[in-house]
Amino acid sequence: MPIYAECILPVPLAQTFTYRLTDAQSASARKGMRVIVPFGKQHHYTGIIVGLSPHAPEGIDVKDVSELPDDAPVIRHPQYALWQWIAEYYMCPIGDVMKAALPAKLKPESGKAGVIREDFKPKTRTFVKILIPPIGADIGQERNAKLSEAFEKLKRSPKQQTLFMKLLDMSHCLQKHDADLVPQDELLAEAGCDTTIMRELIKKGLCEHQEVVVSRLDIADEDFRNFKTEPPHPLTEIQKVAYRAICSSFNDKSVTLLHGVTSSGKTEIYMHLMKEVVAQKRQVLMMVPEIALTTQLCVRLRRVFGKRMVVYHSKLNDTERTEIWNKMLGNDSIDLIVGVRSSVFLPFAQLGLVIVDEEHEPSYKQQDPAPRYNGREVALMLASRHGAKVLLGSATPSLESYYLAKQGRFGYVRLSERHAGVSLPRISLISLREARKSQTMNGPFTPALIKSINHTLLEGHQAILFQNRRGFSPVIECAACGWTPRCPRCDVSLTYHKHNSRLACHYCGYTQSWPTTCPQCHQSTFSQQGYGTERIEETITRLIPLAKPIRMDTDTTGSRTSYEKIIQNFENKKHNILIGTQMVSKGLDFGGVDTVGIMNADSLMSFPDFRAHERAFQLMEQVAGRAGRRVGQEGEVLIQCSEPKHPLLQQVISHDYESMAEMQLDDRKKYFYPPFSRLIVIYMKGRYEDRVNALAQRYASILRQAFGDRILGPEAPSISRIKNMYIKQIMLKIEREASTSMVRQYLNNIQSKMAHDDPEFAKIVFYYDVDPV
Ligand code: ADP
Ligand code: ZN
Ligand code: ZN
Repeated sequence: MPIYAECILPVPLAQTFTYRLTDAQSASARKGMRVIVPFGKQHHYTGIIVGLSPHAPEGIDVKDVSELPDDAPVIRHPQYALWQWIAEYYMCPIGDVMKAALPAKLKPESGKAGVIREDFKPKTRTFVKILIPPIGADIGQERNAKLSEAFEKLKRSPKQQTLFMKLLDMSHCLQKHDADLVPQDELLAEAGCDTTIMRELIKKGLCEHQEVVVSRLDIADEDFRNFKTEPPHPLTEIQKVAYRAICSSFNDKSVTLLHGVTSSGKTEIYMHLMKEVVAQKRQVLMMVPEIALTTQLCVRLRRVFGKRMVVYHSKLNDTERTEIWNKMLGNDSIDLIVGVRSSVFLPFAQLGLVIVDEEHEPSYKQQDPAPRYNGREVALMLASRHGAKVLLGSATPSLESYYLAKQGRFGYVRLSERHAGVSLPRISLISLREARKSQTMNGPFTPALIKSINHTLLEGHQAILFQNRRGFSPVIECAACGWTPRCPRCDVSLTYHKHNSRLACHYCGYTQSWPTTCPQCHQSTFSQQGYGTERIEETITRLIPLAKPIRMDTDTTGSRTSYEKIIQNFENKKHNILIGTQMVSKGLDFGGVDTVGIMNADSLMSFPDFRAHERAFQLMEQVAGRAGRRVGQEGEVLIQCSEPKHPLLQQVISHDYESMAEMQLDDRKKYFYPPFSRLIVIYMKGRYEDRVNALAQRYASILRQAFGDRILGPEAPSISRIKNMYIKQIMLKIEREASTSMVRQYLNNIQSKMAHDDPEFAKIVFYYDVDPV
């Protein structure tokens, strides 16, 4: 009797697909295995089996499975359930979730045949073993005989001799009791030979091949092999109280928010909790917003967890990702994963604890492409499937988490003192308006900020200057008229890529060379805008002779190593001023920083978004938190702003998170914004601008009949054209408790009806962003 396999395929459709297995395949097929199946007329896809049944689906012409490429599942059982939840909650095709979840090498591919490009087997490396007896009791008699025999055999081939000599040399055969295995590629390269010569040596019985399974992780971890781990620092009394509060909160709440001021020792507390869970043989996932920013953190964790910790980030290559995945699928488990949002997709076996550090960070949310998920929310779901606890940590919690904690849905633990009685930095507000009026500005600097930096540098200490990032990437503009090159297909400026000196579109990949003349004014004076960090650097170097600044923005941190180098150089005091964008706000722990300057608070606060004030508070508090982190230091923070009396700035200077939260939550409640509601942004995309506009209008008015003023829009998103497709967005506010799958059903119904009445409507592409940030 045939067995039918229900499969997810990497296609943007909501459903699964069923195929028939042969008897032989049926015997080995298991849920979670990959499968290659025909699709359409001449395509093959690799998918994943999510169900097996003896019953043929009704009314469908079922095709045969082409191949079962592996002999074991590539996902664990709970993972599929999580994928389903994501697809449902974030209103996207399950195939898209699968694509995001699997590392590229396991990833289903489409193509005509021969579908899987890389197989899913451990990597092996070919080594060469020399077949000369070791130094034994008979002091080399047998060996000498064998050696002379060997040279006799090689007499007529100088090439083979060369190779053999190299092998003798590299295997240390004459020095050691057990000769080393020599990697074939290195050996051939050293000897300048190819594999045909190698084959001759093997034929003559002088050596043999040996395949050795190598793990790249092990190679990368070489340094840690002999690494002595040490226990974390003992907690201070205050930290112990918090630690115990977290443990007891975990008794009846699965999620707890640790609201601890910057430098209060949250990371130390995490380490104690993690150790505890690892000792119970359960896994820990520590989520961090951007791994580039966690070099310092990883060093601290590595000291405690050694080799049993793995870092999972976006700069790993496919092989490395696949290896972590496979390692976790196998029994050789990993205790601690430190990872970015995508680490929620890893095949955990027995997760015991998830820590979401800097839980307020917007970068936990994936913007594009689908699934547009929030790593923090998925982590909660992941943990609940494993019966694991979640600790959300932040000095400036998201209002969503803070609200749930105040409601009693999450546990709540507050740490309001910095470690070892270090005081929170003193914050002062400097009026840009006054400085401008009295004409005392020096470029972007007020005299007060210059004076403070100067003082700090004179004492041999360091300063950090924070400049808000406006765009995403550096753009170029005509210095004469301000014209900026834009993508001909999308509604965005082209960004400059240093590595190939070309301008590229971030959305569609269009590239062009640096423009020779400006089409608007016919001059040729293009320059890079950056974020204004260059201008800050220039000015400060001119004004303060002692200044040795270094910049940290996406311009200077193209690679992970350059980022690390900047941090290292600043840590080693090669530089005394660090100038940066949002990057400098995150988790850095430098000892020598006395002064932090925020160049312009206005641009932070004036962002047209209901979260603008929450974000501005978080950013300023976090940046300020980089100052005066050590005993005996007194950090000082200067904020340049136009309106020092603004309530938000008053809350910032008194580190008064609670007042800020109360005030913002009042507003949110009044206008029915999160956390009091949930937002769903409906995107509509089509080829013709007029039509998309008209259809979006009609759709919105139909929705308005049901939802009234909970429908906002349609309006153009900030980027309103991508790849020549015009985009409109409609925002919908719903109750927190409402099910998004019901909403989706409802929206689908309306869409089908409209498409039925108007064939133009059927051409519109819909997608959703649930809980946008
Ligand atoms: P947070 O994560 O809250 O910003 P950290 O854990 O980074 O705080 O602590 C700030 C600094 O204080 C770090 O350099 C850390 O090593 C140190 N520190 C905190 N707690 C302790 C402790 N109990 N013993 C020794 N050093 C500590
Ligand atoms: Zn111009
Ligand atoms: Zn483009």
